Amino acid sequence: MINGMTFITGGWLLFLLLWGCSNSGRTISTQPRSVYPPTSYEIVNPSAPERVTSPGIYYPRKQSPYIARSVERRPVIAAPVGRPSSLSRFHRNLRIKKDILRVGSRSRPHRRPMSPRYITIHSTQNWSKGADAYRHALALKRGKLGSLSWHYTVDQNVIIQHLPTREQGKHADINGPGNKYSIGIEMCEHPGNSRSATLERTAKLTAYLMKKHQIPLRRVVPHYHWPRRGYSPAHKNCPHFLLENGRPGRKWKAYLKQINKHYQQIK
Ligand SMILES: [Zn+2]
Repeated sequence: MINGMTFITGGWLLFLLLWGCSNSGRTISTQPRSVYPPTSYEIVNPSAPERVTSPGIYYPRKQSPYIARSVERRPVIAAPVGRPSSLSRFHRNLRIKKDILRVGSRSRPHRRPMSPRYITIHSTQNWSKGADAYRHALALKRGKLGSLSWHYTVDQNVIIQHLPTREQGKHADINGPGNKYSIGIEMCEHPGNSRSATLERTAKLTAYLMKKHQIPLRRVVPHYHWPRRGYSPAHKNCPHFLLENGRPGRKWKAYLKQINKHYQQIK
């Protein structure tokens, strides 16, 4: 009887010992490494189709279109260092101001879905005093430009977005592929605006859009690229300061290099 009890007690001790070891072994080998910050922030952009989440970064409500809400004591799996975080950091640094046109307005009568395959670069050819990105945003919103629309306007100080990138604009070639498949960017050229700063800001924006939508450099084109049926000349001299004799040449090639330099910086 005593021997039997000893055997049973010994068996239990052995079982507990083995169970404990295997359990602690599992904890070490398979538990994900997590960080538990006292407070993290989840950032949600209500106007974008995707949710942007960036733990630990807080945008004050007044300075950003993002709504930040605190998420108390929520375990956050350490994000791998790589392309997504770098792309979002690159995007934040662009500080794009969203001023999206109202659906039903003259320049955005309805949503025209698009899967962007190209990026088309324009210049406004608007040399009026003060014709900056804000002024163009206002003109679009007030329907002063008829049915014309594009995605971004860039000047030396700012990038303003007018349309979601997954919607068609009307900026290139009436009902052609330039409108159906390309994101349109207009560069301002009003008096006093720095052309080099505008070109640099546009190059960064283009690099970001290439990465985001997986658009190769060969599909970054000047407006010139898209023939306009019924127009003479069919190929517009746009953006005129990046073309030579109305055609892409050395200057355009150099600008593609400038874009690519930024593209290579996004991991
Ligand atoms: Zn153009």
